[in-house]
Amino acid sequence: MSQGKDYYRVLGVSSSANDTEVKKAYRELAKKYHPDANPDNKGASERFKDISEAYSILSDTDKRKKYDTMRKYGAFAGGGRGAGGGFGGSAGQGIKFEDIGFGGGGDGGGFGDLFSSIFGGFGGKKGPAVQAVEVKADVPFKVAAQGGKVPIVVPLNEACPSCGGSGAAKGARISKCNECGGSGHVSFGQGGFAVNRPCPKCRAKGTVASSTCGKCAGDGDVVIDKKIMVRVPPGVETGQQVRLKGQGQRSEHGGKSGDLLVTFNVKSDRFLKRDGLNITCDVPVNLAQAVLGTRVKVRTLDGKKVVLKVPPGTQPGRKFKLKGMGIKKGGRQGDQLVEITVKIPGKLDADQKQQMEALAESLGLKH
Ligand SMILES: [Zn+2]
Ligand SMILES: [Zn+2]
Repeated sequence: MSQGKDYYRVLGVSSSANDTEVKKAYRELAKKYHPDANPDNKGASERFKDISEAYSILSDTDKRKKYDTMRKYGAFAGGGRGAGGGFGGSAGQGIKFEDIGFGGGGDGGGFGDLFSSIFGGFGGKKGPAVQAVEVKADVPFKVAAQGGKVPIVVPLNEACPSCGGSGAAKGARISKCNECGGSGHVSFGQGGFAVNRPCPKCRAKGTVASSTCGKCAGDGDVVIDKKIMVRVPPGVETGQQVRLKGQGQRSEHGGKSGDLLVTFNVKSDRFLKRDGLNITCDVPVNLAQAVLGTRVKVRTLDGKKVVLKVPPGTQPGRKFKLKGMGIKKGGRQGDQLVEITVKIPGKLDADQKQQMEALAESLGLKH
């Protein structure tokens, strides 16, 4: 088991590095040590894991803050067993990273929880971090291309409207919680240091009611479907995420609300497709139109129809560019590429067949 890693050292940045510097360092290192670039090199793949782990912590404001606190308290003062105090204090037992679920390629989900079980008591009544709520947002093709807003519905805890979040029935007697003595949290020893946890009896409120609210069964919270409008950046793609700070689950224990993590799912369009910043589409013409030339109406992202001139003798698969009709993103602008497909008639009536035969003959083709 390794001692806790110094994530700043792993990325080779100073502890005051800003987000851009962290990202830049990560990108360079990740490229250099990526397993694809270093086949059969175990050292490189280990390094790559460390780099990814470090970045997942340092690129997340909340995690980084907690990590910094941890670091400040010397959780990874090198040398192991009690050297320089570590975390163990009187027990003389240094905390290893794995002990608190930091390292080891975990899913990161336990990270916040374990942290809060250790740090929950720091700074008084501050509650544990609230996990981000993850939701999917379907985005119509056009909105994804041009940007806009989409509504999402998220089931979230809200203060119970009946009791205002107290959990007490009307007229109930409120008294101090005897479990925590009114402080809202209880502490217990764990490996030589005290850990504060929200009081399970009063749910960190510090008070208990003689009878509980019927609407929320004393929880103080009810789940409601909250409708939120999410801004969609232009050119968004399926799988891309946005984090809405503090829009997620409210903290039960008076802490900050959690975040809402929205993953976009771009719906397809019957006619238009995307290729990077370009919009592509197929426009069918019939044989005569391809041979003689024609004009076709082409739908664009704006919903308008543009008239496209198809010159005589247009081959199937020929592409025409509608300049600047693609996706605008970061100062760049794509085009709309219109591919002409030619429909060959499946059936001809006698008259058409005769004409076609005459044409074949005049082109010098036998049949
Ligand atoms: Zn209630
Ligand atoms: Zn209590």
